[in-house]
Amino acid sequence: MKNDKKVYEKILVQIEKNVDSKNLECVIEGCSNIAINSHILQKNGILNSISTANHFHEYKNADIFDFAKSNSGKELRFRKTGVNKAHSYRTLCSEHDTNLFKSIEKHPIDFDDYNVHLLFAYRTVLSLTRKEQIVQEKILRKIASKRLNEPHPALQSMRKDNDQILKEINKALEERGSEIKRLESNLSLERKDYAFIKLNYPLKKVYSSSRQKTPKTGETFYVNIFPYNNASNVLIFYPKEYKDSWFDDYLESWTGLTEKEFERRLTTHLFLNCENWGIAKEHLENVSQKELDKTILISQKLRYNFNVRADLSYSIGFNLFSKDR
Ligand SMILES: [Zn+2]
Repeated sequence: MKNDKKVYEKILVQIEKNVDSKNLECVIEGCSNIAINSHILQKNGILNSISTANHFHEYKNADIFDFAKSNSGKELRFRKTGVNKAHSYRTLCSEHDTNLFKSIEKHPIDFDDYNVHLLFAYRTVLSLTRKEQIVQEKILRKIASKRLNEPHPALQSMRKDNDQILKEINKALEERGSEIKRLESNLSLERKDYAFIKLNYPLKKVYSSSRQKTPKTGETFYVNIFPYNNASNVLIFYPKEYKDSWFDDYLESWTGLTEKEFERRLTTHLFLNCENWGIAKEHLENVSQKELDKTILISQKLRYNFNVRADLSYSIGFNLFSKDR
């Protein structure tokens, strides 16, 4: 039995490795060039501004290796990551990566420009699409593996999880197609479907890119938060004809905050709504490890709880940026 478990673990690790090392095509439809590691947020001027010795910490799923090794029950954790590898997926070929995003790769970035906000959203959705495609491929391989289909108790819950995740990923990828088309029709200047707000707060050395949905109507909007010009910038990009009291409240929840309120709002947003995000080492060194661990477990428990995520009065009860909450 024990040996079986080891064999299964080995197969799982091998599947992860195989997919991670496989060449992928550029995510842009019709482009068959090989994708390079593309950053969701630019490295120069954004990501490197929060790094120490070219590193910071990303909040993400523990590696299958880590998870097997530790018994902490933490599927999510902070991992020290190099700037070159951080916040990136093999999404675009080098040509598309360079040409499409020129106006958000040069300085200064013009945050009054519609196109700039559109590009931040577009890059977010392309990257998340690629991330989902990678997960899809891994799951499909696990489902197809003969040995992982053996009637061993250790495999049963994994198989159930795989089926569930695959169902959700397939649904998400289906939606992505029309979302990407809509953003692309805006890029080609045929339409102007979105509106944006940009807010500035005192600098917190974190970044995150997320795509969220409104609870009632399922409209997609995009939230990018990152340091720029010595401030934390919050960019929210949303369909402009979209009117709903929840969304008004959502925008309000980010507006006119004191520094403390912003710290708390941001902490809840990061742990509740962002799939992966990064933070400077100094912030993590300043908070209690015990409180941090507690918050990680809450975030893990709530990551698929859309009711809590939609509740704008919910606070995770922790402040990542200050000792007093
Ligand atoms: Zn390409």
